[in-house]
Amino acid sequence: MKILVLGAGVIGVTTAYALGRQGHEVIVIEKAACVASGASHANAGQLSFSYVDPFPNPGILKKLPGYMLGRDNGIKINQTLRLLYYSWGIEFLRNCTSMRAEKNLDIMLGLAHRSMEATQRLSAELPDNTMSKTPSGKLILAKTQAELEALEHSAEKKRRYGFTVEILDRAGCVKKEPTLKTWQGAFCGGGFAKGDGIADPLELCRALKTISIEKFAVEYKFEHSVKSLKTEAGKISGVVTDKGVIDCDAVIMCLGVDANKILKTVGQSSNIYPMRGYSLTLPLGKQVPKLSITDPLRKIVFANFGETIRIAGFLDANVSQEKINMRGDMLLKTAQRLWPEVADYSAQNNLWAGYRPMTPSGIPIVKPSSVEGLFYNMGHGSLGLTLAAGSADQITKLVWQSMHKSSRIKREEKHVLVS
Ligand SMILES: Cc1cc2nc3c(=O)[nH]c(=O)nc-3n(C[C@H](O)[C@H](O)[C@H](O)COP(=O)(O)OP(=O)(O)OC[C@H]3O[C@@H](n4cnc5c(N)ncnc54)[C@H](O)[C@@H]3O)c2cc1C
Repeated sequence: MKILVLGAGVIGVTTAYALGRQGHEVIVIEKAACVASGASHANAGQLSFSYVDPFPNPGILKKLPGYMLGRDNGIKINQTLRLLYYSWGIEFLRNCTSMRAEKNLDIMLGLAHRSMEATQRLSAELPDNTMSKTPSGKLILAKTQAELEALEHSAEKKRRYGFTVEILDRAGCVKKEPTLKTWQGAFCGGGFAKGDGIADPLELCRALKTISIEKFAVEYKFEHSVKSLKTEAGKISGVVTDKGVIDCDAVIMCLGVDANKILKTVGQSSNIYPMRGYSLTLPLGKQVPKLSITDPLRKIVFANFGETIRIAGFLDANVSQEKINMRGDMLLKTAQRLWPEVADYSAQNNLWAGYRPMTPSGIPIVKPSSVEGLFYNMGHGSLGLTLAAGSADQITKLVWQSMHKSSRIKREEKHVLVS
């Protein structure tokens, strides 16, 4: 089957690899000149399989006014007249009930478990330096006793999905990560996820691209901007790009925040909203943490990338582009105040901003569409790197199932004609 994968972010590249391995003829179409030029470029690098708790939950409702009135440094949600903002917002609020939040967490943990296994398989196939073969571990800090209890409550559920989250008091956290002695923020404990790891998203995408070309003859067409999808008799037949039409049997949408405008060309839509985040990449400081540290309250993550430290975070909706430098500066100052010893904050900080493709439930869209031959693998929000391998695995299975279903139908049709 000839399959076009649209978008060469971490989702597109991982999907192309999985489809190529299954023996399909795969072409990746990307408007930029290289892989990982969108949200995947310089994210926080967290493989946080055991921390996939969706953004909408009952607790967030109390915090929303603060986010919307600019009273929270980590999350800023400005109002806009965009219709999508309101349809997304209503659906988001619907997902904030305890029942939905529990159900959504179950779905996410299922996908995270699949992703953890698929990532382990993938990392064994990649060059040694691409991904660490042993997870570095991740510590999620809790400021208050109530936050620690919430971590404990979800740890119980996570255990059922095969994830071990050890609940630690403050002393226990410092024992696991001694450099936390110099952490200046308040925390009373945390959850330690031993199986979580780190991967540099850019290096991972580059490695997957190279190997998929060498091993599975996957083709990459860079600087090709998709303009619309083409259908014949209600079935996907190709893609129109600025460089011409490319015919195919199936299309996998991996366009991140840009999926919507292309889907509209075949009467489809998706509820994906762009929420910006930022990262800084700095030389390591005097103290070198071995674990990734997440401070959910301040929406900030620290990850040791070997020679550098990546500091990422914040979540902004409808905050103007002109504020990128200001927000980057705020991230730098917050990090420096919190953990002054772990980075050389005076060095060039490589500020980067990217847009998370957020769905209102926090669950990515990995399924066939109602148009035959069109599949979705998009809307991975804050967890695209973590969920890429599992989502690629899932979509590859769905393509295989639909292929066999349609060949069975064709066989049955033939049978009807003959008889
Ligand atoms: C600050 C920050 C930190 C994050 N940290 C983490 C983390 O630690 N762990 C984690 O799991 N996730 C993290 N994420 C989320 C993760 O980065 C995203 O979920 C993921 O990158 C989404 O990947 P994607 O391939 O769907 O989208 P993208 O990477 O945006 O890829 C989409 C691609 O489609 C291309 N494209 C768009 N339109 C067209 C067109 N018309 N024609 C052709 N090509 C087109 C774009 O150029 C782009 O390359 C973070 C995100 C941010 C912003």
